[in-house]
Amino acid sequence: MDLGIKNRVVLVAASSRGLGKAIAFQLSREGSKVVICARNKERLFKTREEIAAETGSVVRAFIADVRDKSQVRRMVKQVADEFGTVEILVCNAGGPPAGLADEFTVEDYREALELNLLSTVNLCYEVIPMMKKQRWGRIINMTSVSAKQPINTLILSNTARAGVLGFSKSLSDQLAPYGITVNSICPGYTRTERVEELAKSFAEKGKGTTEDFYKNIKESIPLGRLGAPEEIAQAVAFLVSERAAYITGVSLQVDGGFVKGLF
Ligand code: NAD
Repeated sequence: MDLGIKNRVVLVAASSRGLGKAIAFQLSREGSKVVICARNKERLFKTREEIAAETGSVVRAFIADVRDKSQVRRMVKQVADEFGTVEILVCNAGGPPAGLADEFTVEDYREALELNLLSTVNLCYEVIPMMKKQRWGRIINMTSVSAKQPINTLILSNTARAGVLGFSKSLSDQLAPYGITVNSICPGYTRTERVEELAKSFAEKGKGTTEDFYKNIKESIPLGRLGAPEEIAQAVAFLVSERAAYITGVSLQVDGGFVKGLF
């Protein structure tokens, strides 16, 4: 299926590794002009080279912390100066630390909201005026299954990501008259370095082996395995495509059946 996004200008936030990188890769394979960003220069530029070498498409890299309003503004301006616009925006960031309510202070919640909710608001606010002007746009907000089915040990994530779903739904309603769709992706457990780090920390805390960590997770997933980053990326590629022009306001879990609720 031709997704119809060749030469579209795409900004994928937080994309030097993991899900963001897989999404940038996939959209670059589709022929989009892809801009990636992260805070760590070395890995970011290595990722840029890796993607460009494989796909032959235009790939740019900007160092930016998505929590920082002025850095996000500067990056979006540089992208607009070079490409004239941003047509597809994927809001992503790192994840907040795992833990239960009594392990965190109000300040920890503030940081989680800045990382996962306000970075999304910030990126959207910078890009929406261009999308409105061109009367075309695609926004994908990356959240987690924890927004639909809270995970007990991820209280910071549960809190911040539910906010992202509310923001996305409201935005989808308000931007629909401009031909802009806004959808959220709720990934389930997916094999990225972050999950490998979580497995390591599980073992270091003496809770069991890394194999136990993966075994517990697999038991909670009807399809019996973790997802691959490419499987999340393919769902994103469809939702930002011309083929998905009538889909907006959706929060789609890509989770092997992990979420048990109807919605
Ligand atoms: P990851 O840690 O492997 O990758 C995160 C990426 O974001 C890296 O490129 C990192 O450099 C970049 N980044 C982090 N903080 C940033 C910041 N402040 N500014 C700019 N760039 C920043 O994580 P991942 O597994 O790819 O997950 C991505 C997001 O999806 C996270 O929020 C994570 O919690 C969430 N998520 C992941 C899974 C999973 O199983 N992997 C499941 C559900 C939700």
